[in-house]
Amino acid sequence: MQFSAFSMKTMPFSKICIIGAGAAGLVTAKHAIKDGHEVDIFEQTDSVGGTWVYSEKTGCHSSMYKIMKTNLPKEAMLFQDEPFREDLPSFMSHEDVLEYLEDYSKNFPIRFNTTVTDVRRDGEKWKVCLVALEISRPPFFQVTTSTNSNEPVSHFYDVVFVCNGHFFEPLNPYENSEFEGEMIHSHDYRRAEHFEGKTVVTLISKKAVYPVLPKTVRQIASHVKSVYENGVVTDEGERIYADVIIVCTGYVFKFPFLDSSLIQLKHNDLMVSPLYQHLCHVDYPDSLFFIGLPLGTITFPLFEVQAKYALSLISGTGKLPSDISEIQNFETRRLQGLQNPGAFHILVEEQWDYMKELVEMGGFEEWSYMETIRKLYCYIMSERKKNVIGYKMVNFEMNEDETDFRVGFRSVKNECGP
Ligand code: FAD
Repeated sequence: MQFSAFSMKTMPFSKICIIGAGAAGLVTAKHAIKDGHEVDIFEQTDSVGGTWVYSEKTGCHSSMYKIMKTNLPKEAMLFQDEPFREDLPSFMSHEDVLEYLEDYSKNFPIRFNTTVTDVRRDGEKWKVCLVALEISRPPFFQVTTSTNSNEPVSHFYDVVFVCNGHFFEPLNPYENSEFEGEMIHSHDYRRAEHFEGKTVVTLISKKAVYPVLPKTVRQIASHVKSVYENGVVTDEGERIYADVIIVCTGYVFKFPFLDSSLIQLKHNDLMVSPLYQHLCHVDYPDSLFFIGLPLGTITFPLFEVQAKYALSLISGTGKLPSDISEIQNFETRRLQGLQNPGAFHILVEEQWDYMKELVEMGGFEEWSYMETIRKLYCYIMSERKKNVIGYKMVNFEMNEDETDFRVGFRSVKNECGP
């Protein structure tokens, strides 16, 4: 593949809009600010962290549940040069990760309670429409009232980064079933206590993030033929009674602020199109970016590589293929190699070559520690296959130059979610 500097822009500093203050938005902001750009981050809630903000309430953005432990260790889930606290165990709680993101983003220019409602091209700029939730804090009460009375306002940007997450819109193939009991999606699962004394069946699809459930819960992994009014029917024809069905079948992508003339969701809303490298909009490859779409990856470090590559295109130091058809045909080529088009953004083993390619095209230095992350990831994936809960009951110790690790066992209660 031949690369060339695609961007005609020589403008050193751009006005950048970042949608979402989760891990993807924050790491993008960090590098954009470092590069000297003018950055606005819009966050619809009142805090940073996205997925890592736990709430007892359901129906909100985050799908976090109470006793979750990370499925990656802190040694593999970090941003470059930003280690997690030394005293934390390798597999952390959601509070630990949230604290990390809060520390990481101190003094970032974030406008909270501000929802991006529309993004469209307007001449040479991106017109971004926002609705800010008006928060009034009475001086003597610890109560916050809010009125959504504000009119939408528009701002213009050179570049937009879409970092709105992808674990908030449930995919529920059983939504219209005749089941008469209680059915919830894992998005709304918070605590096992809610189901005490009930017969619960969980329906789990292979790649979904799914929560830990009480030992009494019967977990059915991907061999359910149908759901009937009182429970489920397995492939073998066995009828299993359930008071509650928890559906853990994953999520679809959603961009309510983007018109379908700009972005289409294909293959049951599991593929975002038209994008080059799961990242750059094909028609605006150096000004409209999507950070964090790849699934089955090490997340934070990968988001960082994506953000750095995108920023290299903005500054003109990075490259896109000189042949525009390479950009346009990215999706066709990838789909040809896939049996299931719904797996379009799932990378898993491909993630290492993917990041190397972005580093090479971006012309920035590869993080040498990424090789250690790769080793850790491979180790964890293989241990997870052997013991979906027990694999989290270890702590990793890095050797001095952090090129390798040792595994030490720790005694923890059997409460880690897969
Ligand atoms: P999010 O964290 O979802 O952040 C998106 C942000 O955008 C949110 O704050 C949201 O409010 C905001 N937003 C959305 N729309 C708008 C709008 N229109 N206007 C303004 N703001 C908007 N990953 C791991 O690495 N390790 C794990 O152990 C792990 N466990 C997980 C467990 C669960 C239950 C889930 C659901 C996910 C888990 N993940 C894990 C994946 C996790 O989602 C990613 O690590 C990462 O946090 C995703 O970050 P993000 O910024 O892409 O999205």
